[in-house]
Amino acid sequence: MKRIAIIGAGPSGLAQLRAFQALKEQNIDIPEIVCFEKQQDWGGLWNYTWRTGVDQNGEPVHGSMYRYLWSNGPKEALEFADYSFDEHFGRAIPSYPPREVLWDYIKGRVEKADVRQYVRFQHAVRYVTFDEDSKQFNVTVQDYQHNQIYDEAFDYVIVASGHFSTPRVPEYPGFEHFTGRLIHAHDFRDAVEFQDQTLLIVGSSYSAEDIGSQCYKYGAKEIISCYRSKPMGFKWPDNWSERPCLKYVDHDTAYFEDGSSAKVDAIILCTGYLHHFPFMQDQLRLKTHNCLYPLNLYEGVVWENNHQLFYLGMQDQWYTFNMFDAQAWYVRDVILGRIELPAVEQMQQEGQQLHEQEQQLDDVAELIEFQGQYVERLIQQTDYPTFDIEQVNQIFLTWHQHKFDDIMTFRDKTYRSVMTGTMAAKHHTRWLKAYDDSLKAYLAKKTVKKEASFS
Ligand code: FAD
Ligand code: NAP
Repeated sequence: MKRIAIIGAGPSGLAQLRAFQALKEQNIDIPEIVCFEKQQDWGGLWNYTWRTGVDQNGEPVHGSMYRYLWSNGPKEALEFADYSFDEHFGRAIPSYPPREVLWDYIKGRVEKADVRQYVRFQHAVRYVTFDEDSKQFNVTVQDYQHNQIYDEAFDYVIVASGHFSTPRVPEYPGFEHFTGRLIHAHDFRDAVEFQDQTLLIVGSSYSAEDIGSQCYKYGAKEIISCYRSKPMGFKWPDNWSERPCLKYVDHDTAYFEDGSSAKVDAIILCTGYLHHFPFMQDQLRLKTHNCLYPLNLYEGVVWENNHQLFYLGMQDQWYTFNMFDAQAWYVRDVILGRIELPAVEQMQQEGQQLHEQEQQLDDVAELIEFQGQYVERLIQQTDYPTFDIEQVNQIFLTWHQHKFDDIMTFRDKTYRSVMTGTMAAKHHTRWLKAYDDSLKAYLAKKTVKKEASFS
């Protein structure tokens, strides 16, 4: 029997388990699957940890999520086509759930599919090589449960280890003498820590926007965010200003490229993440920046130079959970020989074309449509339930507009499910006043008293 190794039990790895299990439910034989997960539980980034630095085993902490994190896009855009929010929660819920609620939803589907049996927890993949003679991979794994390192042979390897975990940490002159707290977004855990402080946020993408918003919500005194390429350009609250790039820091003062300066208590580097796969043999290792169409991956998933190797979820992400599903179903069908791959030259040519096409796009609607077309193309080739991609694109565009209308209220809006037609419920508390992000508080019928009285 063929053997498949999946690296990571986050949403992408779990999508792969679900894709195979869907066949098993139809009494179709599937290969032997082992999913290696270095954490103690599944869910990837959605499995929150308070830890920073290293975990209990000395492994780099995977988690980049923080307390009070709410979905930054409507849940209707990420809904699984084979497991709706209605099915999981039994009633309509609002459109922007907090992390714990989405984690619950992710877990609900895989618990129902009974795929935990395939996962070896606290197993960190150390190294993957390919043997040209046996046409098999050797996977070296550190098993922290039994404190041992072992090797196993596999016919296929699917890398689903995520790419928002290894921080990209730039160095600016004077950082070594900065007198306040200096962290990367990866290590940010709790906005309350920055109450009454003046914060400098470096970067102008989702982490900058959301971490700044969290700190505003939980009582920061002032927020200054600075951009390298272009400002975020939202209508910020009065105590939030955007400035051009940071130039240097002198003890407690930050100096910017427009000649201005400001005393700050803390600096949070929201400067993105590295695609980092030190456990892959060099010729098997994906080397890319964060983009919608990385090179060397046919249909965004098949390693062009070795069709027994796949990467899931390596794109920059408008689409998330249902895109990972589309990829997982596609990979499954390539492995099972249900999908025939073209010649390598054709793969490379198509990949290059799409990669270049992405670079010509700059308008947000075009970028969303580009990823939507990609998801649709994959879905058309498998039996993953189809859904209205055009409608999801429209949801993203409306979301984008809501953010520009008011960055502090966009999470109060509601959307209709593309999968079930259900209209989301209105949340009992405005996001800006909803301080308790627990599943219990979220699903409660009204504001918990404690919440309303924060600050
Ligand atoms: P991950 O979730 O990163 O999971 C990868 C898994 O691989 C982890 O469990 C990890 O422990 C494991 N792993 C890694 N290396 C190894 C190894 N060597 N051996 C064994 N196991 C390993 N998306 C949304 O749709 N909505 C949001 O609101 C949203 N918020 C986000 C907030 C933050 C701060 C970040 C960083 C990302 C957010 N995302 C959001 C995007 C997120 O990338 C996806 O939702 C999703 O988690 C990606 O799933 P994944 O399985 O590809 O990767
Ligand atoms: P990102 O989208 O890759 O953005 C990185 C940012 O860092 C860009 O603004 C980039 O600027 C800037 N940057 C990089 N190097 C820099 C340098 N040397 N100096 C100054 N700026 C620099 O990364 P991200 O914002 O961390 O987002 C990652 C993922 O997390 C996204 O998928 C996002 O959706 C998710 N996320 C979600 C939430 C949520 O609310 N649920 C919260 C946070 C993050 P340039 O534009 O100049 O390159």
